[in-house]
Amino acid sequence: MNASPADQRRLLDIAELDARIRQADHARKNPPQSGLVQKLLTHRQELSRELSVRLGVRDDLRIELSRIESDVAVVDARATRDADRLTTSTNSKEAQGLESELASLARRKSDLEDAELEIMERLEQADTAVAEQEALIAETNAEGARLSAEGKQLVADSTATFDQASRDRAAVAAEIAADLVALYDKISLRGVGAGLLRRNTCESCNMVLAGTDLQAIRQAPDDAVLTCPECGAILVRTEESGL
Ligand SMILES: [Zn+2]
Repeated sequence: MNASPADQRRLLDIAELDARIRQADHARKNPPQSGLVQKLLTHRQELSRELSVRLGVRDDLRIELSRIESDVAVVDARATRDADRLTTSTNSKEAQGLESELASLARRKSDLEDAELEIMERLEQADTAVAEQEALIAETNAEGARLSAEGKQLVADSTATFDQASRDRAAVAAEIAADLVALYDKISLRGVGAGLLRRNTCESCNMVLAGTDLQAIRQAPDDAVLTCPECGAILVRTEESGL
């Protein structure tokens, strides 16, 4: 095939745009953030499980506290009733019995108050533990939101790059010989479509060409379309080729 050296040079622009298009397409389909967001979701599940455990501990303590409080109320009511009866009692035996019961109620109340204090202390710790866990989850959510936004931005940017490079590529391809573009496209299916020959090296595959191949290339007319004997890419010759 023959094509003007100018058209052949423009294949290098197309190859560069194709590389950019491939890169942008890969980036928009595989944003690194999506893997990180998945990991965060798994991590948040673990954090939520731990939060449930801590909430359970706190609920149990609240129930225990309210049980103690109602026991205290029962003891108080009983003590009030006994004290009232004691002031009106005329029977000394009954009075003795009431006094003894009041003493035992006072001990019972003191025990209950000790237990109440202990539960309140534990409840305070449980509240702190819940708050800490909730803060961790909130941090994880914020990190997830940040990563998602970053991922979306990357996809949007890559898509913009992809679209722009695709438009540029179509514009360049429209300006050069259609059969040359068709050949380039065919070769592109299995590798790089075109590469510069620079200092005896094919820049598609980075192989230094053999002397006999270089000899043949030197003898070929400027408008001959040559391919790399190593990788099959169209070899574009310029003043940098060192021929
Ligand atoms: Zn090559």
